[in-house]
Amino acid sequence: METPAVQKNFIREIIDQDIATNKYGGRVHTRFPPEPNGYLHIGHAKSICLNFGIARDYNGKCNLRFDDTNPQTEDIEYVESIKEDVRWLGFDWEDRLFFASDYFEQLYEFAVQLIKKGKAYVCDQTVEEMRRDRGTITEPGKESPWRNRSVEENLDLFRRMREGEFPDGSKTLRGKIDMAHPNLLMRDPVFYRIKRVRHHHTGDKWCIYPTYDFCHCLCDSLEGITHSICTLEFEVHRPLYDWILDELGIYHPQQIEFARLNLSHTVLSKRKLLTLVQRKLVDGWDDPRMPTLSGLRRRGYTPSSIRKFCDQIGVAKANTIVDMVVLENCIREELNKTVPRVMAVLRPLKVIIDNYPEGKTEELEAINNPEDSSFGTRKIPFSREIYIEQDDFREDPPKQFYRLAPGREVRLRYAYFIKCVRVVKDPLTGEIKELHCTYDPTTRGGDAPDGRKVKATIHWVSASHAVNAQVRLYDTLFNVRNPDDIAEGADFTINLNPKSLEVLTNCKLEPSLKDAQPGQRYQFERLGYFIVDTRYSTPSAPVFNRIVTLRDEWAKIAKKL
Ligand code: ATP
Ligand code: MG
Repeated sequence: METPAVQKNFIREIIDQDIATNKYGGRVHTRFPPEPNGYLHIGHAKSICLNFGIARDYNGKCNLRFDDTNPQTEDIEYVESIKEDVRWLGFDWEDRLFFASDYFEQLYEFAVQLIKKGKAYVCDQTVEEMRRDRGTITEPGKESPWRNRSVEENLDLFRRMREGEFPDGSKTLRGKIDMAHPNLLMRDPVFYRIKRVRHHHTGDKWCIYPTYDFCHCLCDSLEGITHSICTLEFEVHRPLYDWILDELGIYHPQQIEFARLNLSHTVLSKRKLLTLVQRKLVDGWDDPRMPTLSGLRRRGYTPSSIRKFCDQIGVAKANTIVDMVVLENCIREELNKTVPRVMAVLRPLKVIIDNYPEGKTEELEAINNPEDSSFGTRKIPFSREIYIEQDDFREDPPKQFYRLAPGREVRLRYAYFIKCVRVVKDPLTGEIKELHCTYDPTTRGGDAPDGRKVKATIHWVSASHAVNAQVRLYDTLFNVRNPDDIAEGADFTINLNPKSLEVLTNCKLEPSLKDAQPGQRYQFERLGYFIVDTRYSTPSAPVFNRIVTLRDEWAKIAKKL
């Protein structure tokens, strides 16, 4: 994998210092800890690139650890997709694939130690009672009536919780910290709850499950993590992270928080993405409009373009929204250099060249990528009947429109000058059916010998040689910049963009695309970058996704008209 020039950030500065002071014996060991309750999205990519990138650059290690303490919402399907996506992004956890649930026995023992130290107790309060007694930022909480149970009683009850003697939700294990602590998370937080739910990894072995806060710091410690990098919302959890490790007197990694990625015109909450999938508002987790890694992959994004993006946006402490354009530019810039250019007509208009011999076909030479001569050239057939874009013709051209119009001449890319001599319309609807043109045989592949100029070059495909295809054009999934910014209780799907998908079923591609394989990418000249869809495309009915548009003058002008 090519390594981009890595930006220094505040996390790398902390690590540099820790190495200088020999804090962890010079070791650097990070982890990426997804909860298997959804597919990974571009925000996770930021965390993956950060954690695995640091391990790579500091000659360290990075673990993949499933944070699987909530069996109700988790599933093996998510475990598999997460592994696939991390690998696809280009990172390798080698032999360090872990599950928090693999540590359940050790976590149980740590809980017993805390009970023995008088630092944890079994509580019979309901969730509602706990919430009621928790207090507020300005008022201290009230101690649970079960807080002063003896160590023996707590040990006995906790063992019986594990053995399944008590109904779900009837008891919890809580840390005995401080009900007046200014940080509400330190007011006797829950460490274990009773839940009879089958776990995708441990089956029915357990009916008590640790909470995130109890579990995470202990997993980090057991794995010898040095820098436990997480998003900003965990900053308030850090005192608890430190408390548990200090009370147990075990190896203590350092938690460091950074700002999560927010991307414009989309949502990056797994709960919301799951809603879109469940309500069938998108075509699954890998719908090409989704900000998931599987969606971006199907859309045609490359792993290197996503890594480039993650490197470019950097790592900071302040939450911001990154514009989608930044992500699009990363893929555009890459594909501009790496994929061949071809001609395709998305909304065809038939053109008949009256003075071109019937039945004749010429092979014209076309350049595969003007950015890189090693791509070479190819032959494209030219004949009497061709297709051009409907948009490239106007019967009544407005002022800035320089393309084809009655009586006007344009250049056909790699072919000839043509001039429009007649417009054929449907007598009933007035719809334009076809154009008749004449061509100038002296202009083949270049300029007119008499110095005559045209103001536009348009693309085309020979009608009898064309490959038929379906092409899917995408717009942003949401039509507002920040779809999370809605009234309390409002449904975030109200801002979905109804025009996020446009399916064109009558597209005409140049014949070199006949054997295009799923996953192959092209630039369609003047139209953008496209990929053969890996789900729906078949050899007899190819389907292309537009990855991203081209950013050029033509696109801008087309929008204005
Ligand atoms: P969500 O809030 O969408 O459910 P999550 O944070 O609960 O996401 P996890 O599976 O727990 O999802 O995330 C795994 C790791 O990825 C965590 O370390 C988390 O901080 C990080 N992460 C999640 N979302 C983002 C984001 N938008 N930007 C950067 N890192 C993220
Ligand atoms: Mg989480």
